[in-house]
Amino acid sequence: MGFIFFPRLEHSCANVRHCPHLGGASLSMVVSAANANSQHIEMLYGQLAAEREAVHRLVEQNSQLQQQLEQARRELRAERQRRFTKDRPAVVEQPVVVPLRKRRKKRGAPVGHPGRYRPQPTVWNRVIEVAAPNVCPHCGGAVREHPHRPPDDHLQEDVVDGRPQVILYRHAAARCRHCRLWVRQAGEGELLGKRIGPHARAMAAFLHNEIGVSARKVPRAIEGLTGLGFTSATFLEFEADLARQAKPVVQDILAKISSTENTVHADETYWSLDGKRAFFWIHATGRYVHFHCSRSRAGKVSRRILGDHFAGILVTDCYAGYDAQPARAKQKCLAHLTRTARDWHQVVPEKSLAWAYFEKVKSWVTRACRFHRRRNTLDDLRIRAETGWLRKELQRLLETETHDHDRTCRLQKRLGRYATEWLTFLDRPETPPTNNHAEMLLRSLVILRKITFGNRSEAGARRTARLMTVMTTAKRHGHRALDIYYRMAVDPPDRVLRHLYSGP
Ligand SMILES: [Zn+2]
Repeated sequence: MGFIFFPRLEHSCANVRHCPHLGGASLSMVVSAANANSQHIEMLYGQLAAEREAVHRLVEQNSQLQQQLEQARRELRAERQRRFTKDRPAVVEQPVVVPLRKRRKKRGAPVGHPGRYRPQPTVWNRVIEVAAPNVCPHCGGAVREHPHRPPDDHLQEDVVDGRPQVILYRHAAARCRHCRLWVRQAGEGELLGKRIGPHARAMAAFLHNEIGVSARKVPRAIEGLTGLGFTSATFLEFEADLARQAKPVVQDILAKISSTENTVHADETYWSLDGKRAFFWIHATGRYVHFHCSRSRAGKVSRRILGDHFAGILVTDCYAGYDAQPARAKQKCLAHLTRTARDWHQVVPEKSLAWAYFEKVKSWVTRACRFHRRRNTLDDLRIRAETGWLRKELQRLLETETHDHDRTCRLQKRLGRYATEWLTFLDRPETPPTNNHAEMLLRSLVILRKITFGNRSEAGARRTARLMTVMTTAKRHGHRALDIYYRMAVDPPDRVLRHLYSGP
């Protein structure tokens, strides 16, 4: 608002230059002072408006950033979940994928082209005469030899002393008196009805499962090393035969694990099944190891493997899938706990309460592991003192106020959820406080996955699981992988089992 001063107005006042009501000040000066003041106020209003605008802009920017943060959090969560979900979220694509898979090209020679057949060898290095069996392998009846009939010849190629050899097995003609079938028994190192012998098969399985050579390269490796050639499809057939033989052995190993009263380690790692996410589960005692491949990471897979009457001590990480598994006792892996504490230790401000809390957790775990390692060298008094301290320290960690950081709250919640499962090893000296055993066994599988990119089919994954189970268990019993695969190829399962458990 502006004021205007007219000194020559008709009813001009004599005191216009020195008004007594204004303390002797002239009216023109008062008017000019009021005008100057209103300019200042207007300037202030202008500044206020500019500040308001700036604040408004900042608020808008802030809300945008918050939205972006929220979005990034959601994406991170989704990414983490995707790593462990059984199905990828691309459910919508499912109907598209199915017809495509049906139309997939059949493997092998194109239609109309002749397939590849193994040529029949015309010369052989050795001849082995095989006598007729005493009893019929089909019905157990008596067998009668027919010496006047021509013998039954079987040519088999194999690797002997690192070189390819053709062996002619000459079977005496014989017939069962009861079921009237022609019968014969396998000679030394012979697989009845097979063109390639057990040594080459064992070598192929060894290269694939122990060394991690991909299925496509195994035939090339064997041909290069020994000179015996075969195709990849033949190799898959070898593994299918071996896996069929391995089935009863695997069942026996699994029965041994699920019926044990000792420690069983369980863990899982992801696997690729025809480009889709699957999981390899491992359950292992000190001497028995079982692998299982499943598309699911749900805890019921583990429950199906161990059964509802499992009475051993289960050592696992903090994955909630194992929570519903019944067991005599459980031990959660302390190494996983300290790993989490170490990671989160780096994201909290130094010397804060949260920082000190993670320090405490780490030193508690270190002391627990050291106690387990040195337990045998300590006397009773020392053992009592250490176990007492470990229990009290856990109680202290559970009761500490942790409101200053959400990570501390999370770790404390985890400690509380499994409060009774951290120190099981104190009462049972044979149980280790960490799940390292299972993790070490999984490592070979992880390397295999990185080389072979998993399996193409569920049947292939099942084969891998069975062959790995038998091989790893055999190694734990002091056998060589190549040796056990050879035994599996030539011996019936009960003899394989006797050999497996008898030690080297
Ligand atoms: Zn018979």
